[in-house]
Amino acid sequence: MNWLRNFMIGRYGLDQLNIALLAAMMFCTLASSLSGSLILYLLSLIFMVLAIFRLMSRNHSSRVRENEKFLIFWNAVKRGWNRIRGWFAAQKRRFADRKTHRYYRCPNCKKQLRVPKGRGKIEISCPICHTKFIKKT
Ligand SMILES: [Zn+2]
Repeated sequence: MNWLRNFMIGRYGLDQLNIALLAAMMFCTLASSLSGSLILYLLSLIFMVLAIFRLMSRNHSSRVRENEKFLIFWNAVKRGWNRIRGWFAAQKRRFADRKTHRYYRCPNCKKQLRVPKGRGKIEISCPICHTKFIKKT
């Protein structure tokens, strides 16, 4: 194994982008064997070549920059995903308590407010911007 250790000296190795590339490769390999799709198979090869190229690279500064870009992209994906999940969770809650609560948007900051139903005309005060408005619940 000495030759391998020598071979690996100065190589870039694993980072988050490479882990993502390897995960994408495994996903495409699995999906292509299940579906028989040639495109997925070719994609898995592309991901593998990219991951090996980056693992073996001696140009560390370029690889670090790629990884930083990837992390910015990945965080944007995660934020988008959380927003979608939050929206679905809100719809679910809204549906679950549709008989007991009403939802209003603050006329000033557009924040959604949850108000118990059946109280008649009440003054609602926004907890974010403290705007007061009157609604019938
Ligand atoms: Zn408000």
